[in-house]
Amino acid sequence: MTAVTRQIGDFFKTFLLWELVVGLSVTARELFSRKVTVLYPEEKTPQSPRFRGLHALRRYANGEERCIACKLCEAVCPALAITIESSMRADGTRRTTRYDIDLFKCIYCGFCEEACPVDSIVETRVYEYHFEQRGENIMTKDQLLAIGDKYEEMIARDRAMDAPYR
Ligand code: SF4
Ligand code: SF4
Repeated sequence: MTAVTRQIGDFFKTFLLWELVVGLSVTARELFSRKVTVLYPEEKTPQSPRFRGLHALRRYANGEERCIACKLCEAVCPALAITIESSMRADGTRRTTRYDIDLFKCIYCGFCEEACPVDSIVETRVYEYHFEQRGENIMTKDQLLAIGDKYEEMIARDRAMDAPYR
């Protein structure tokens, strides 16, 4: 193509809005193709039972908290997000007096969950949460236990599905 024919072509494309036609052809093509986006939050994508979301502390069926304050989760946490303090109870068992997770530090690696010998600290499928005040990013033991109580059915089901692979 010579320079002259190219210039003539560009001249006509300017008047025919050629770039607009090319752009709209992409829109028209995608209009009828398979949709890969979802209308969140009305629509949700499928989740794995191994999804690592908001943390929870679990209890046994009799209401006793599972955590034995071994501090393995605190030791393994690469982000130093977990802070535990513990003491001996009157019955001679050891329990946490403080169990905090700083969700701003947490990288949701799941190491705490893997390290726990009694399936106490877990990560739930819950990922829709937010903070409005400074300090709300620190999840306390009571909050973690409350989340565990609320989602125990889901947690137990997910762990049962994953059990053959553990
Ligand atoms: S998920 Fe990982 S970073 Fe978050 S508290 Fe557990 S071990 Fe720490
Ligand atoms: S949550 Fe599990 S790993 Fe962490 S201190 Fe309690 S028993 Fe140990």
